[in-house]
Amino acid sequence: MKKTITTILLMFLVSNINGQKRKQFFKSPEGVFYISSDLHIHSVFSDGSVWPTIRVDEAVRDSIDLISLTEHLEYQSHSSDIPHTNRNRSFQIAGGYVQKKPLAVVHGTEITKPMPPGHFNAIFIQDANKFFDKNKKPLNFINGIKEANNQGAFVFWNHPMWEANRSDGIAKLDPIHEEVIDKKLLHGIEVVNFDTFSEEAMQIALDNELTMMGTSDVHVLIEWDFNIEKESFHRPITFIMSKNRTIKSISDALFNGDTFIWYRDLIIGKSSNLKEVIDNNFEIVSKGYGFKGRKVEILQIELINKSVAPISLNYIGEYTFHNDYKFIELEPRSSKTIYVKTKKVEKTVNLEFEILNYVIAPKTNLKTIKTVIIE
Ligand SMILES: [Zn+2]
Ligand SMILES: [Zn+2]
Repeated sequence: MKKTITTILLMFLVSNINGQKRKQFFKSPEGVFYISSDLHIHSVFSDGSVWPTIRVDEAVRDSIDLISLTEHLEYQSHSSDIPHTNRNRSFQIAGGYVQKKPLAVVHGTEITKPMPPGHFNAIFIQDANKFFDKNKKPLNFINGIKEANNQGAFVFWNHPMWEANRSDGIAKLDPIHEEVIDKKLLHGIEVVNFDTFSEEAMQIALDNELTMMGTSDVHVLIEWDFNIEKESFHRPITFIMSKNRTIKSISDALFNGDTFIWYRDLIIGKSSNLKEVIDNNFEIVSKGYGFKGRKVEILQIELINKSVAPISLNYIGEYTFHNDYKFIELEPRSSKTIYVKTKKVEKTVNLEFEILNYVIAPKTNLKTIKTVIIE
C-alpha cells in the first residue's frame, strides 16, 4: 500500500514523545502511560484565531502529549483571508512544526451540523478532503461519519450539553444519535467541553459504553481561557490510559473507553478507571502508635497525594480521629498526618473513604478502602 504523507508524519511524530522530560500529572501503574491529550482545538483554518504552530507551542508549555487540530469541515471563518482548499493544511503545518518537540499531533476534524445531530470530532483521520463530495459540498452527517469510520477514526460527540443546541443545557439522545450508536459509528462523548461539565452526558456514556472525553475546544490563545500554573484553572485534559506511547496503543485505549478527565478540581471517569488512578496516587503510611510522645492506642498515619489534583476525602468508616473530622482535603502533591483512634493496638487497619472530587456517575463519587499495615 502506498504510504501517504500523513502516515509517514505520524510514525515520525510518535517517536518524538519518548524520553522527554514531561510534567507528571498523575502517577500511573507500571506498564501503563497516562497520555495527556486535548483532542478538540481550533486554528485560523476554521474559526480559531491563532496559527496552527501556536497550538503546538501551547501544548508543549502545558505538558500535553497529544493534540488534534479539529477544524470545522462546514465553515472557515477566515476563508476570505486564508482561502485554502486543502482541508489537511492545518494538520500539515502543525505536524511539520512538531519536529523534535515532545508531543504528537494527530489528524482530526469537526463534522459540524445543526442539532440534531450537532457537532462530532473524528480523530486519526487520513484525509479531511474526503469529507466533501465532487461538487466540494460537505458530506451529509451519516455519510460524513461513515467516511470517518472508513478512515479508521475515533468519533466522539462534541458538547452535547451546549446551551446553543440544548436551551436547558441537558444532554440527551435524539433518534439520529441512537442510530449511530447502534451502528457503532460513534465511540465517545464529551462530558466536559471548555467550561461545562454534563452529568447527563456522563450517564449517556455509561449507558451506551461511549468513551468519556473532556476538551478545551479552544479558539483564542489558551492562556486567555486557562492557566496551567494555576492548577485549579487548567485546560480540561483527557488522560488516555495506554499500554505504550504508540498511536496504535493510544487509539486502542480510546476505543476501549480507557480515559479519565481532569476538569477544574474534578477527576471524571468510569469507576474502574478512577479506581486505578486513586490506587496509584493516594497512599497511606503508618507511623505507628503514639501521640505527642505518649504510648497510647492512637495510630499516627500519613495521607499522601501524589497527583496534580486535590483529593477530597470523606471518611466513611467507624473510627474517629483525634484532631480531624471526617472531611479531609489533601492538596495537590502533599501529605497530611492524622491520628486514628483504633481503641486497641492493631496490626492492620482498613480505612474506607469516599473521594468527593472523583466522579464515577451522576451524583456518585468513587469509594476506596485502604489497608494500613502497622510496623
Ligand atoms: Zn463544535
Ligand atoms: Zn469545536
